[in-house]
Amino acid sequence: VARIEGVTKSFGKTIALHQMNLQIASGEFVTFLGPSGCGKSTTLRILGGFETPDTGRIILNGQDVTALPPNRRKVNMVFQDYALFPHMTTRRNIAFGLELKGLSRRAIDARIDELAAFLQLADYLDRRPDQLSGGQRQRVALARALAPDPEMLLLDEPLGALDAKLRTQVQIELKNIQRRTNKAFFFVTHDQEEALTMSDRIVVMNQGRIEQDGTPEELYFRPASRFVAEFIGETN
Ligand code: ATP
Ligand code: MG
Repeated sequence: VARIEGVTKSFGKTIALHQMNLQIASGEFVTFLGPSGCGKSTTLRILGGFETPDTGRIILNGQDVTALPPNRRKVNMVFQDYALFPHMTTRRNIAFGLELKGLSRRAIDARIDELAAFLQLADYLDRRPDQLSGGQRQRVALARALAPDPEMLLLDEPLGALDAKLRTQVQIELKNIQRRTNKAFFFVTHDQEEALTMSDRIVVMNQGRIEQDGTPEELYFRPASRFVAEFIGETN
């Protein structure tokens, strides 16, 4: 469903991605794992169309989308810094993508209620982002991305600001949504244990390159390099 072909991206002297190649099937839950600065967010931003690669191509559903803007790709993204619309309430933030799709008011409200229940946001629907905690904002960002039911979801550390209990609940629900809808989810986390439990496949990155790409079992039991072994081994 998605292919990254020979993608390189530099920012000034920093090479964020080096000749990256990756192929992802529909219905896969793929996690990008690696140290800060290794290129995880850049990979997601290029898939979503928020950055343009210097070389290489992005193919989604057989179509070369390298030159297409985000709104012409059937992809939604949760950004690491949430990127909510600051002047809009939770309700309007979630409704935004649904309004663009031309859904009826009633269908929009039903979808908002459903997402608010699952993400425990029902009490915060009329607040603006500056009236919410970090974890609440993060859940609004997740609700906004899930709302229009996109073909692919790009999730850049979507659970980082949640407390342990809520995080476990949302992990389970997200995984259920992914299984039920059979969409491709591209997930970024710093948390090895989260990656191991949620993913069909894990892509371990190091300094803009893929160190290893495999199932959680493969990475855990047959790490391809010392880097992978040490990184995965940090699970406690
Ligand atoms: P983190 O875990 O800290 O979020 P990351 O793996 O998501 O890290 P990226 O954000 O993809 O890392 O960044 C990869 C490299 O590219 C880093 O060295 C970063 O400093 C650099 N970089 C990313 N975006 C820009 C930008 N807009 N301008 C300059 N450098 C950038
Ligand atoms: Mg990042």
